[in-house]
Amino acid sequence: MPELPEVETIARDLAASIVGARVRSVWGSGFGLHLGRAVDLAGIRRVSAGRRIAAVRRKGKFLLVEIDDDARPTAPEARRGIVIHLGMSGRLRVEAAGAARAPHTHVVFALDGARELRFVDPRRFGWMAPGAPLTARPELAALGPDPLLELDEAELARRLEGVRAPIKAFLLDQRRVAGLGNIYVSEALHRARIHPTMPAGRVRAQAGALLAGIREALDLGIRNRGTTLRDYVDASGERGNNAAALRVYGREGEPCPACATPVRRRVDAGRATFFCPKCQRAPSARRSRQGASHRG
Ligand SMILES: [Zn+2]
Repeated sequence: MPELPEVETIARDLAASIVGARVRSVWGSGFGLHLGRAVDLAGIRRVSAGRRIAAVRRKGKFLLVEIDDDARPTAPEARRGIVIHLGMSGRLRVEAAGAARAPHTHVVFALDGARELRFVDPRRFGWMAPGAPLTARPELAALGPDPLLELDEAELARRLEGVRAPIKAFLLDQRRVAGLGNIYVSEALHRARIHPTMPAGRVRAQAGALLAGIREALDLGIRNRGTTLRDYVDASGERGNNAAALRVYGREGEPCPACATPVRRRVDAGRATFFCPKCQRAPSARRSRQGASHRG
């Protein structure tokens, strides 16, 4: 599933190629996307048809295609637009209008210059919806801070305080911090030397190291144009290069890059976590009791 670095890579590619282009028309396949939900094509047409694309940005794992109102150029926070989630296998490609459409093409924005922005999603876990203004979309309003744009150490510490859930679950919860998934959580926790089962509230004193680990893992992912394990490709159809740079994710039994101890894999709530048992010490019963006494 695309996480923050993959969505950022696509947002940057699209920003370079379609900002300023005018949306001529919008076509939909008629298939429901995420959970069978119908795409609000009428609403998407209402916010975009005949108007120019003002910006392509990202918040968490969401892509935001902002649309200008030509009559009244709008401030960024007031812009209408379309929010897109790529789900498991969603792809966005800019192609010549005459090029054959790939199977599983579900939404097509015809742009001027005889180009099309196409949303292709074989597994149909992706999703898109209009917003006017875009920032009023409830999915965006519910998101926690973006770790690259909106989060600092004090705010992360404040959010960790008193949380008993494991730090892995905390970081996967998009309402607490937006943008991380399974891959970059494993990578960030390894960099910060924090065990994935550590209660989040007990990581508070390490908020600075944790934030640094998150940012290092994400920045590297962006520099490498994303991690491709199976489906992910960028807006040009190219695979990302970050898989080779992963320290622990997918590397069970391989030496930890910091200490050479074999990397371990564990499964929590059906999702795999990879970690180094030496660099990332499991929470001990003694410290757990201390943690409990501090909570009062
Ligand atoms: Zn290690």
